[in-house]
Amino acid sequence: MARDIPRRYRMPSSHLTWIEINRSAFLGNLSALRRLVGPDVAVAAAVKANAYGHGLHEIVSILSTVGCEYLAVHSIAEAEAARKAGWSRRIMLVGPVLPDHINAVIRLDLEPTIFDPSIITSLGRQSRKTGIPTRIHLKLETGTNRQGMDKPTLAKAIDRLRKYPELHIAGLSTHFANIEDTTNHSYAMAQLKQFTLLTGYLKKNKIKPEMRHTACSAAVLLFPETHFELIRPGISLYGYWPSRETYVSYKLSGGENNILTPALSLKSRITQIKTVEAGSFVGYGCTYRTGTKAKIAILPIGYSDGLDRRLSNIGYVLVKGARAPLRGRVCMNVTMIDITHIPGVRLYDTATILGRDGDEMITADTHGSWCHTINYDILAGLSPLLPRQIL
Ligand SMILES: *Cc1c(COP(=O)(O)O)cnc(C)c1O
Repeated sequence: MARDIPRRYRMPSSHLTWIEINRSAFLGNLSALRRLVGPDVAVAAAVKANAYGHGLHEIVSILSTVGCEYLAVHSIAEAEAARKAGWSRRIMLVGPVLPDHINAVIRLDLEPTIFDPSIITSLGRQSRKTGIPTRIHLKLETGTNRQGMDKPTLAKAIDRLRKYPELHIAGLSTHFANIEDTTNHSYAMAQLKQFTLLTGYLKKNKIKPEMRHTACSAAVLLFPETHFELIRPGISLYGYWPSRETYVSYKLSGGENNILTPALSLKSRITQIKTVEAGSFVGYGCTYRTGTKAKIAILPIGYSDGLDRRLSNIGYVLVKGARAPLRGRVCMNVTMIDITHIPGVRLYDTATILGRDGDEMITADTHGSWCHTINYDILAGLSPLLPRQIL
């Protein structure tokens, strides 16, 4: 194959479709968040969902070289992958732990979040048996009604914790329900109040955590009173605002400009160019018909890579700094684009699906609005199989 590729088109890698991670953009975002919270607040980088599609291995390798105290992962499998990638600092599990997972928790030195008192006994027993203390985080129910413990449940947890001094309370946490979807922050503030009440109740019962943590990105960006001793940013680390509402609230409160820069680009090589006559159909279902004679280019990227099928006939990519609209349906591995109006496009030229090309930029927010979803959904949907390069 390579023999057929003219020399001048040969790229440093042989990838057809790939992700680039801009290390300095990513670290710039981390620094911006650090500036916001000050030097005394620790950071737990949320790297669940393959580091929001950026690549767990790649992001862990970057974070290992800088100051970042914690990773926050959802599952044991993610924690195991982070350890394999060389992460030796602390890892918080924000997803559930089953009794079957307890050996892995101890072996990988993980800090599980406790949502249910029943697991405390299993964890405590195993910690005692192995002689290895386990650090845990208690999740407090403050109004999200997802994974927290309310006061009666906490009372049961306290009873069990008394029997197991080998369980160390690393953290008390909660998660906000309605902080990024609105510019009205009364619900978040009521949750914060409830958090304070419950931490007070635990303190009376001699539960003294090493740290308290409540802040996802929106809370980090908008409310210093949510920072406590540790923050848990996700989307903002990758250079994205949690929502337009968060951005508006931030700007209204006098926030600095341009503190976040998207770190990820998604690119693909043009693998075929063809001329299609006027009145011809393009792709499955004949959903697009050319009005005039058109030049169609083929990209080896499809919905299995995370290019959402809802972008069919809606979105565009960038070729030579110009917009090339998607024609017909996005297929599993292939997408057709229209380059009729873009001069000088050649076989094996690069198309930018996410990222900047010249004056134009396509972000996960752009794709989110085209697909009626959020940037998180777009990023988390990027296939873990795509090769990732750190620039
Ligand atoms: C994902 C997650 C975060 C990070 O949220 P962002 O909005 O991406 O900053 C924080 N805390 C918990 C418990 C999470 O699951």
